[in-house]
Amino acid sequence: MIRFIEISEIPESGYKINEQISASALGMDDELEFPKPIVVSIDIEKVKCEAVTKGLIEFSIKQTCSLCLENFISTISSPFEIEFKSAPAEVFEEEKELEKEELDTVFIKGLEIDLFEIIREQIFLSLPMKPVCKPECPGLCPRCGTNLNLDKCNCDVESIDPRFAVFKKLKVKT
Ligand SMILES: [Zn+2]
Ligand SMILES: [Zn+2]
Repeated sequence: MIRFIEISEIPESGYKINEQISASALGMDDELEFPKPIVVSIDIEKVKCEAVTKGLIEFSIKQTCSLCLENFISTISSPFEIEFKSAPAEVFEEEKELEKEELDTVFIKGLEIDLFEIIREQIFLSLPMKPVCKPECPGLCPRCGTNLNLDKCNCDVESIDPRFAVFKKLKVKT
């Protein structure tokens, strides 16, 4: 896949990308595990000397459930739209602040779009903060740590608010 696109070289009819790329080509295979190539569809439209990119990134990723701590594969589709505006070098430093607030507009120093950067960013933005293997994941027993997806335990958990579990334990001991 082509990595850099010069805005001035985008034809009037725009530019379309429908490709697959491996995580290693993107340099994302160090900490994250992608079982399949990442599917990328991007439409780039030129508006005067600016560019608008619209697209969809689809990928499967190995994650750890925040409730039961098991690994699972989730498939994520991340649609996005980013506007690229070029800014004069001296304005660039001030505009950087703006860039953070207004995620959809990116000011670029030159007139070049880095597609790999877009793809990496969209992947990071679409990853859930607290991944769950399934919406109704029962997680681990707060008492004995059994993975309640796989097994049952004999703990009387329902009547205990996890916040008070500690106190109850103390009572039992005395
Ligand atoms: Zn889970
Ligand atoms: Zn238990």
